[in-house]
Amino acid sequence: MNVITVFPKFIYLRKILLILIGLIPNLSTAQEIINTDSHRLEEVAEGVYFATGTGDIYTMSNALIIERNDDVVIVDSHITPEAGRALLDSIRVVTEKPITTLINSHFHYDHSNGTPAFGPDIEIIGHEVTYEKLTADPENEHTFQSSLRRFDGTVNRLQTELNNATDTEERRELQGQLAYWQRHVEAQEEIVFTPPTQTLRDKMTLYRGGREIQLHYFGRAHTGGDLAIYLPDEKIVFTGDMMLGGISYMGDGYVAEWADTLQGLKNLDVELVLPGHGPGFTEVERISNVQAYYTDLTEEIRRLKNLGYSSEEAAARADLRQHAETLGVNQLGANVEAVQRMYDIWDGKIK
Ligand SMILES: [Zn+2]
Repeated sequence: MNVITVFPKFIYLRKILLILIGLIPNLSTAQEIINTDSHRLEEVAEGVYFATGTGDIYTMSNALIIERNDDVVIVDSHITPEAGRALLDSIRVVTEKPITTLINSHFHYDHSNGTPAFGPDIEIIGHEVTYEKLTADPENEHTFQSSLRRFDGTVNRLQTELNNATDTEERRELQGQLAYWQRHVEAQEEIVFTPPTQTLRDKMTLYRGGREIQLHYFGRAHTGGDLAIYLPDEKIVFTGDMMLGGISYMGDGYVAEWADTLQGLKNLDVELVLPGHGPGFTEVERISNVQAYYTDLTEEIRRLKNLGYSSEEAAARADLRQHAETLGVNQLGANVEAVQRMYDIWDGKIK
C-alpha cells in the first residue's frame, strides 16, 4: 500500500491553514492516493475515494466509494463480477464497514455488470430508465453487444499477432496481453444483469450516517437516465458518463438535449468533477466546452439532414473543427453511430 499525496497546491494551502490555526487533528488522512492490487484510490475528501483501475484486472470504468458513520455507499460496480470483487477487495483496504448501498450512474454494462459481487442484500439505487433497461433485454443492448464483439476482436487480433511473432520479447509481451484479454472475456461468462432495487425519477437525497448524498437527474444525455451523484458539503460530483473530460460515447445518447442537461450540472456548486472514465478534474469550464460541442453537432447535423444527406454522408461532412482547441476535434466528421441515432430520433424511430 503506497501512499502519496495529490493536489499538492491544495495540500500546501491546507498545511498553511493547519499551522495557522494549529488544530484539526485528522487532516493528514485526506487527499491521499492508496494503491491496492487492482485500484488507485484517490481520497478526494475525508472518507470519499475515487477508484480507478490500475490495469491489473480490466475494470473499464471508475467508481466512487463514500464512507458513512456505519456503512459504505458505492457508485458504479465496473464491468464484470470479477472486477466488482476486485473493487470490494480494494474497499477492504480502507474500511471494514459494511457496503450497504450501490448507486448506478446509468445502465451501461461497464458501470453495472459488477453489481453481483456485492451480494443479494445490497440496496441498489438507480434511475427509472436504468431499471427499465436492466429488466428489459440488457443482453441484447447494442452497446453491450458491440463491446462483446470488440473484446473478441482484440483476442483474435492478439492471437494472430502472436502466431506471426518470432521475436522472444515480442512474443512474451503479446502472450501477456492475450492472457489479460482472455481473462476478461471469460469473466463476462459470469455476468448476471442486476437492476436497481429502488428507483428515482428526478432527485433523491440520502442523509444517513453523517453524509449528505444527492442524486440528481437533470434530463437525458449519455443515456435516458443519467444520474449525477453530488456531495454538497464536499463540493464533489460523480458524473458517470454524462460528463467526461471530453466528448462522451453518444451511441445511446440524446445529443440534441445534452447541453440543456449539462446546464443542471453546472448549477451545482462543484469544485471537483469525477467522471465515469478518465481522471477527475477541477476545471468546471470543461462542461461549457462539451455543451458547445453537442449544441454545434446538433445544428450541423440538422443542417446536413435538411440538405438531404444520408446519415453516413452527414457524419463524414460534419465540420466541428471549431472545437479543435478545447476538445481536440481536428478532423472533419462526426461519430457515425451518433449521427445515425440523431437521424433515428428526428425520424421518430427512437423515442
Ligand atoms: Zn456509459
